[in-house]
Amino acid sequence: MRDTLAPRMQNFRDRCVELGMPLTHQRLVIYEALASTDEHPTPEAVFERVRKKIPSISLATVYKNIRSFADAGLLREVSLLHESLRLDANLADHHHLVCERCKSVTDLPHDALAPVRMKINPPDRFQVHRFNVEVLGLCARCAATDS
Ligand SMILES: [Zn+2]
Ligand SMILES: [Zn+2]
Repeated sequence: MRDTLAPRMQNFRDRCVELGMPLTHQRLVIYEALASTDEHPTPEAVFERVRKKIPSISLATVYKNIRSFADAGLLREVSLLHESLRLDANLADHHHLVCERCKSVTDLPHDALAPVRMKINPPDRFQVHRFNVEVLGLCARCAATDS
């Protein structure tokens, strides 16, 4: 994980400069909380992590920053089935392994699946940007407790 944090933070700094988004301490702490995990945290989990460093921060402020990071393409939002929003700082194209029991989300490299293609033209002239596949199943930990 350590080896991906530095490039993610560097990319974040570069993008902020490009976009004229001030690199405040608050933004850095929030983004680092996101970029330092591959667990696809909920906004609330990010808030809990950030609060350890900035006790006075509000959930609304964390939400607002997450929104602007997502708008700037610094973050991807993953919505799982009908579960709450999960956040993803892995900006490379990839798929997800989703545990149906504990809702853990694990990255699966893009090339781990055969290329996904449309076999028909999408209805209503829908423009396809990319494919993101959710592979549903049980994580090792949940499978081990399955008797
Ligand atoms: Zn699980
Ligand atoms: Zn991911």
